[in-house]
Amino acid sequence: MGSLNIENVKKAFGPVEVLKGINLEVTDGEFVVFVGPSGCGKSTLLRVIAGLEDSTSGRVVIDGEDVSATPPAKRGIAMVFQTYALYPHLTVRNNMGLGLKQAGTPAAEIERRIGIASSMLSLEPYLERRPAELSGGQRQRVAIGRAVVREPKLFLFDEPLSNLDAALRVNTRLEIAQLHRRLKATMIYVTHDQVEAMTLADKIVVLNAGRIEQIGGPMELYNSPANEFVAGFIGSPK
Ligand code: ADP
Ligand code: MG
Repeated sequence: MGSLNIENVKKAFGPVEVLKGINLEVTDGEFVVFVGPSGCGKSTLLRVIAGLEDSTSGRVVIDGEDVSATPPAKRGIAMVFQTYALYPHLTVRNNMGLGLKQAGTPAAEIERRIGIASSMLSLEPYLERRPAELSGGQRQRVAIGRAVVREPKLFLFDEPLSNLDAALRVNTRLEIAQLHRRLKATMIYVTHDQVEAMTLADKIVVLNAGRIEQIGGPMELYNSPANEFVAGFIGSPK
């Protein structure tokens, strides 16, 4: 379970419309990548899906249910940010478990889930450390682990690798791909990196100035870009 329908979503900040009518279908288990230039509305669209931002109009439907009025914590979504957003005073274990604890999950169940997630992400040696004692790559794995323990229907990643150096970007990207295969969860992933998009995506959504230019599989976009913009972004000859 984890299908998503975005129906004619518009979002304005004051007089400025940053999402100009977005329509998108994501099927359960799909890995969908949003690409597009800085400022085109990628983060805003993720935030509207997560409920961190209300749309001006349109609907967000998860598993057939309109969640437009559902608070973020009740949407079955977990989001991973570029900046990790970990609590500096909490250990890795408690960073991962805090959300579940607040939701009233029994301690034994929290420990069980932390055990599974930390094993998947090779975080067992670091569970008692604090974020300041970790590398950037380890911190991002903790943020991903914190999402995994919530067992969300939908994972949202907002440029999760942008603060990592080149080698770590490759490693962490492979870990995210592996996580997707193991969990069979629906994942929506924002990047402006063409290689990340081409290697991770089942489906790529090319955004430009608040609109979708094209939706398609990596090879489809590469071989048949709808216009110069898509061709330029995907790096295909046209
Ligand atoms: P992206 O993630 O693609 O770089 P964003 O979704 O962050 O783009 O931003 C899209 C546009 O909306 C930008 O012009 C940005 O300045 C504007 N914007 C984003 N958040 C706000 C906000 N809270 N208030 C006003 N404008 C915003
Ligand atoms: Mg952004």
